Amino acid sequence: MTETRPAPAPWNWPAVIMFILTTVPTLTVFPWYAWNFGFDAFEWLWFILLWGANGMAITMGYHRLWAHRSYEASKPLQIILMLFGAMALQNSILIWASGHRIHHRHVDDVDNDPYSAKRGLWFSHIGWMLKNYPSGTVDLRNARDLENNPIVKFQHDHYLSVALAMNFGVVLALGWWHGDVWGSLLLAGVVRIFMSHHCTFFINSLAHYWGRRPYTTENTARDNDLLAFFTYGEGYHNYHHLFQWDYRNGIRWWQYDPTKWLIAICSYLGLARSLKRVPEVQIHQALVERQLQQAQERVERCGDAGRLAELQHMLQQELAHFAQHTADWATLQQERLAAAKDKLMHQWEDSELHRRVLTLERSLRQQRRRVSRIGLQAA
Ligand SMILES: [Zn+2]
Ligand SMILES: [Zn+2]
Repeated sequence: MTETRPAPAPWNWPAVIMFILTTVPTLTVFPWYAWNFGFDAFEWLWFILLWGANGMAITMGYHRLWAHRSYEASKPLQIILMLFGAMALQNSILIWASGHRIHHRHVDDVDNDPYSAKRGLWFSHIGWMLKNYPSGTVDLRNARDLENNPIVKFQHDHYLSVALAMNFGVVLALGWWHGDVWGSLLLAGVVRIFMSHHCTFFINSLAHYWGRRPYTTENTARDNDLLAFFTYGEGYHNYHHLFQWDYRNGIRWWQYDPTKWLIAICSYLGLARSLKRVPEVQIHQALVERQLQQAQERVERCGDAGRLAELQHMLQQELAHFAQHTADWATLQQERLAAAKDKLMHQWEDSELHRRVLTLERSLRQQRRRVSRIGLQAA
């Protein structure tokens, strides 16, 4: 019996050429130029600012605004994000957001996730763009909302012109103004694209390999503080894959998420609105559920029979508590919905419901501490 292998995927030449044109000079001409001519503070400053503008346009615009619709942005803000996003050379908003929605829907699926981490670090980082794999086929049916957005549509129809105008226009203008066109082309142009590319790519590769999974083990996504630093807050990818419609990725005040901060500042200035946040109760629920799973695994490994029975009993109690919490939350949500419909009762219901939500939150927090203790005792 002869096995028929699928034909190898053809090269995606525009992407291959773009990566060669940015990678080779970054690794060869850039160090040579830096050694022989050097760059001054002005050039370094523009490199960092443009790198940041590109990175933020991708995280704040392409990702959280357009792919996930986690907030709404005014037209001027959308235009800025659209222009600097095109400058980052990661394809049009429409294609990027559509592909990313598929990634979330089919995460880790080797046949359907365009950058499935299950196909290896190289593939999920950059390999998926080098060839026209069937998993990467553009299918815009999941982005009809974006097709109706004139700013997104304009960028898609004129992507190459906008991308080239932003890259050459801004970079050459800076170089000409400063009197070092080649230096500007190299540092604020080529090296900036190289750095911006790989920092974004880390989210599809390393953020699915390296880090903790405090919220879910349903997929490979990880939370990683170091990656968050290089990706403008996108390193909290475990949280993001569970709660993709939250405008935040790093939800705690101490977590580094400048994209979230900038969205909040824009909201304060009237440039953004309808910022979506996952209710604290749901976040605690996810944390407790994961903790229970970890504690269970530890308890099962416990060698002492007497201790094992005691810990199992404690765990059973916590599981029952958790089921009660889940039921309480479902009831509260129903009541909140009914209260919102009944305008007359709105004021009273609102405060009463709020008080009960806070009580549930507190109870879940206490449960997290108890379950954590059980896990420690079993270790
Ligand atoms: Zn992901
Ligand atoms: Zn996402």
